[in-house]
Amino acid sequence: MNESKTLRLGIRKYPYIPPRSEWISQPYVIGIHCGDWHWAADKYREWCNSWMRKPRIPDWLKDFDGWYGLGFHRLFRNNIGFKDIPMLFEEARRIGFNHIQFWGQMVGDTCCYRFYYPNPFLGSIDEFKDGIRYVRERGGHIGFYYNIQAFDPTLPNLPSEYLNKIPKDIPIPDWREFRKYAQRQFDGSYVVQYPNEEIHDGYRIMCLCSRGWRKYLKYWIIEKYLKEYGVNAAYIDQVFSPPVTYCFNFKHGHRHHGDTVRCRVSFIKEIVEEATRIDPDFIIAIEGNGDAIGQYAHLHLYTSFSTQTRYPCPEVFSYTFPDYIIIDGFANPWSQQAMQNYYPDIKREWSEKDVLNRVYLLGYRFDITLYDRLGLEEEFTKYLMDVVKLRKRIKKYQYDSRFIDDIGVVDKPRHVEVKLFINRSRKFLLINYLDNRSIPENFDIKLDLGKIGIDRIVNAKIFSLNYEGDVEIIDDDMIKVPDTGSRIGSIICTFR
Ligand SMILES: [Zn+2]
Repeated sequence: MNESKTLRLGIRKYPYIPPRSEWISQPYVIGIHCGDWHWAADKYREWCNSWMRKPRIPDWLKDFDGWYGLGFHRLFRNNIGFKDIPMLFEEARRIGFNHIQFWGQMVGDTCCYRFYYPNPFLGSIDEFKDGIRYVRERGGHIGFYYNIQAFDPTLPNLPSEYLNKIPKDIPIPDWREFRKYAQRQFDGSYVVQYPNEEIHDGYRIMCLCSRGWRKYLKYWIIEKYLKEYGVNAAYIDQVFSPPVTYCFNFKHGHRHHGDTVRCRVSFIKEIVEEATRIDPDFIIAIEGNGDAIGQYAHLHLYTSFSTQTRYPCPEVFSYTFPDYIIIDGFANPWSQQAMQNYYPDIKREWSEKDVLNRVYLLGYRFDITLYDRLGLEEEFTKYLMDVVKLRKRIKKYQYDSRFIDDIGVVDKPRHVEVKLFINRSRKFLLINYLDNRSIPENFDIKLDLGKIGIDRIVNAKIFSLNYEGDVEIIDDDMIKVPDTGSRIGSIICTFR
């Protein structure tokens, strides 16, 4: 929008036009609407529904509250290794989770190295498998870390302490072979990740259209971790979080430099199909969100609080794709600035509790990845356990509902956030609230029921951290929310 009050809108395409050929644009549609973005999201969803399939979500994941995320690279300092997986899983269960997700299980001393052999300095393969079996025998879920796109060009060289530590039958990937699978810029150079941050000149971005790279990832995720070690979940980093870069190495079999996106989607499709043939309950969690990739990926790690989030509005994705399951929280460290971006009009020091409150508000699953163990006596852990308990009390409503954002909310106090969810069978309306005022107190929510397709609210019940009770309704559409000493809560309304 500029001074002449005109809005300029651009869509950038990178057509590939070899000599003596031509290019014709795909059709574009522009809609003019007097209102907010929800209308555009409705139109986009309609179009997606005309050709995209819905993800096949196993029943246990529909009921999933979140994961306890840990980093072996951090735990190692406290002498914790694979033999301690059962203890860590029991810790997860005390918090209220049945899912444990690890970073840093692989060779190297970071969260996210690209050679996935379980680090021999963390324990033996038998200890690793025993830990996984312990979790599975108790009906739990356990996943580890992989990266979809990055490779270390110094491989097969490993630090000297790994000499004779990697079994002979484990192939150590070799850049002299893997460079054939790497993405190339238009000038023939490699696509480099974090050139100034890594110990060398940066990881290389690999092309998902390349069969060799797909084979490498499938070897680790399916052949080793799923079939041999016995895991039942996988977290794949950077799938749709950073922008997907293009590739000019047409030896990978793609016809267009932008096909890297299509190949990424088809890879997730392929790996989900193969993994769920072996274990129908196996899930793939990805970093980031995507429309097309959400047809196959089971769980989206949103990371909406991470430092690079300048204009957070996860509502847009949730509202457009209400069938996609989102987990959000701490895996990419949150910051004061990110919280300030969420609440530009509120000046106060934010805490981890505020991150949790917001995850609760949006109905997301909890990503509790502080990488270190949580002290069960710490104040944050106690608060977390209370929030998870509250979620469990209302989950049969939460997970069976469709996010409709704040459509129909006519009035509520400033700094109180209200999000609505309509039951998929239209049996109830769920309202989550977050009171961000300096001192929470009673408030009213006034609804325009016509916008939600409801005649009148018949009754309403409130659930907060330490309270449960009936709520007064005025004139069929105004909800009197009592102060229950809790910033977050949920109201379940039955309606006609
Ligand atoms: Zn390529």
